Amino acid sequence: MILITGGAGYIGSHTNKALNNAGYETVVVDNLSKGYESFVKWGNFENCDFGSQDLRKVFEKYDIDGVIHFAAFSSVAESVEMPQMYFKNNYRNTLNLLKIMREFNVDKFILSSTAAVYGNPEKIPITEDQDLKPINPYGHSKFITEKALEREAEKGDFSYVSLRYFNAAGADFDCEIGELHDPETHLIPLVLDAAIGKRDSISIFGDDYDTPDGTCIRDYIHVNDLADAHIKAYEYLCEEKESNVFNLGNGEGYSVLEIIDECKKVTGNDFEVKIDERREGDPAILIADSTKIKDKLGWTPKYNLEQIIESAWKWHEKMNLIG
Ligand code: UDP
Repeated sequence: MILITGGAGYIGSHTNKALNNAGYETVVVDNLSKGYESFVKWGNFENCDFGSQDLRKVFEKYDIDGVIHFAAFSSVAESVEMPQMYFKNNYRNTLNLLKIMREFNVDKFILSSTAAVYGNPEKIPITEDQDLKPINPYGHSKFITEKALEREAEKGDFSYVSLRYFNAAGADFDCEIGELHDPETHLIPLVLDAAIGKRDSISIFGDDYDTPDGTCIRDYIHVNDLADAHIKAYEYLCEEKESNVFNLGNGEGYSVLEIIDECKKVTGNDFEVKIDERREGDPAILIADSTKIKDKLGWTPKYNLEQIIESAWKWHEKMNLIG
């Protein structure tokens, strides 16, 4: 049985679906602070905070072989306003989880990490061996969690994979689950809100970056490609019992303006675009070099930007109909 913390959230629910489709048994642990119970359509569900002592009861109830840990706060802007909250939930509570895993002899762990651990990278595309110098509390909370995992692995009988996601986007092609944050802060769903008429306009956070069109460049990766990487990482831990760190991106960068243009093309709708101030904590360019995971785990992303936005749009239209 695989325990999935945060399995009622965006990336967690897609991974839970993929694991169940691949024949794995899962139990989702989620306190529904950000996630939705309706997203847990596969496996077991326990409404529980992964940072609480109640988590022990879940380990007593199920025969857990490994943990995939999604539960975390993940907004750069929010982390700048509330750094302590990010430190406690993302780092301290993960230590609680690791302690309980030790008590129950659970020795496999996958962490949702992030490109934000690199800060302003020295070289593009980014390889895993670059220096980690996070420039916002969100990135920092994941950086120190990775360090805690290193220490845990050094103690023995424990191995982990840390997956550094670039920009997760898109939705399940069956439209059963998708991206739904409240409040929404991510670019693609906000642009689609403008396309569907739920917002009057979209604001670009800064057009004076050192990039060809002045707007920030990111590497967008389909959520199902991320889900697939978790399965491969889990199988790797079962077979090799070796700790490792991998970047997960498409290896292609798109500027904020290019994303807006692609959304206009896919949806066929036009809307107003405004230029706003830079958002604190945003690096200019983040593009992944994912060669390592391709070589080591045989993972390759299947979906391009158009497919990412098409799937996100289909989900967006469905959510808009439901209201
Ligand atoms: N962004 C923007 N307007 C918005 C939301 C985001 O210009 O309303 C930009 C943001 O500054 C960043 C990129 O879009 O350069 C992606 O931001 P998002 O929050 O989706 O992901 P992040 O890169 O922060 O993980």
